[in-house]
Amino acid sequence: MIGTFEKSTACFHPASAPDYIPRPRLRELQLSRLQAIVHRAYFGVELYRRRMTERDVRPDDIRDVGDIARLPFTFKADLRDTYPFGLFASPMNEVVRLHVSSGTTGKPIVVAYTKEDVDVWTNVMVRALACFGVHSGDIVQNSYGYGLFTGGLGAHYGAEALGATVIPISGGNTDRQIMIMKDFGVTVICSTPSYFTHLIERGREMGVDMRKLPLRVGVFGAEPWSESMRRHIAEESGIEPFDIYGLSEIIGPGVAGECSLHDGLHVFEDYFYPEVIDPATEAPVPDGAEGELVLTTLGKSAMPMIRYRTRDITALWSEPCPCGRTLRRIRRIGRRSDDMFIIRGINVFPSQVEAALLAVEGTLPHYQIVLTREKGLDEMEVQIEVTPEVFSDKVGALEELNRKLVHALDRTLGLRVHVRLVEPHTIARSEGKAKRLIDRRNIEG
Ligand SMILES: [Zn+2]
Repeated sequence: MIGTFEKSTACFHPASAPDYIPRPRLRELQLSRLQAIVHRAYFGVELYRRRMTERDVRPDDIRDVGDIARLPFTFKADLRDTYPFGLFASPMNEVVRLHVSSGTTGKPIVVAYTKEDVDVWTNVMVRALACFGVHSGDIVQNSYGYGLFTGGLGAHYGAEALGATVIPISGGNTDRQIMIMKDFGVTVICSTPSYFTHLIERGREMGVDMRKLPLRVGVFGAEPWSESMRRHIAEESGIEPFDIYGLSEIIGPGVAGECSLHDGLHVFEDYFYPEVIDPATEAPVPDGAEGELVLTTLGKSAMPMIRYRTRDITALWSEPCPCGRTLRRIRRIGRRSDDMFIIRGINVFPSQVEAALLAVEGTLPHYQIVLTREKGLDEMEVQIEVTPEVFSDKVGALEELNRKLVHALDRTLGLRVHVRLVEPHTIARSEGKAKRLIDRRNIEG
């Protein structure tokens, strides 16, 4: 996806300086920070001390960045098992912020920040936004949810520190979002990509064509989204969509972001050390090969994360980026191993379905996957909204589109599935992360 968009009028922000430091200097910085964080984790958190003792490794054994491979992994389950404060390495009087992420099952997880941690988070968010060409003078509509979710406050602090004007609108109240976007001359929108597609659609109904507004940049994250979705958004709104990556367990948004080349996301490696491993063998994969992303925080005091298993599937690229940043890149995360479902023995990710669907003309980016079990056999139905033009056309056009979609899915997934074309507005809209999968197999047996 190189060269599709016109380059933004990016200006250099001083906070971006670490994006360009020579690799040997970066490695020195990573080592000193890694040593400090391992020391802190070992002496401050019982779980880390026990795990390291089991592996016969002590903080002094970390003499090179490569020694990170000797350290134990940390899993999401560890955050649940130590709920609420068991992984904190700082006393509560140094903790200035708590965020909570609710899982689909069991206890939520709690993450903590010292004042310095909030500063680190703000710093990486400034650098991410600078990557996207956001600058002072921009008017940022922050439609990420404010509250326990890290998206809202993360983007807010970063955009403010950058010197942009922030509208802390949070998610929801779509009509007001459109009105403010138009009346305030908003130039940057932060939201989930699925919610933005809803804003485009609702805007059109209200007579607001985003292509005619000053809106220029989209900061999209919190859910995987495909290149097909990117094209759809760019065409329908005229903006340049950027992918931002992060997770609460590590810090929130701002772990990595795309530069204007849209060819992978630069990891802010001076604060987050990335590894990609084979999830089955737990061994590192070669440069550029696919595996699970593992992250270690290098600058987080309240809650250091050592080799956190993100469950996100990606690849790590070391070759230099033409933008000049020395930071390595991760491939866009199209898949979370948590999202994967198995149907008739075949592994399927919702993002593969999305890419196949949106590549076919006449579809809208609103779809849902429904899994059922009939007489012991798994069935998958994909419901997708089609454009009003197709829907109002004679039956022939719908049948033709249905046939095309079944074929496109078969080619991508290697699976014959049912496709149901539905009218615009049939599928429920989300103000945050879209719910793409409904699995009724266990209920119906
Ligand atoms: Zn770059």
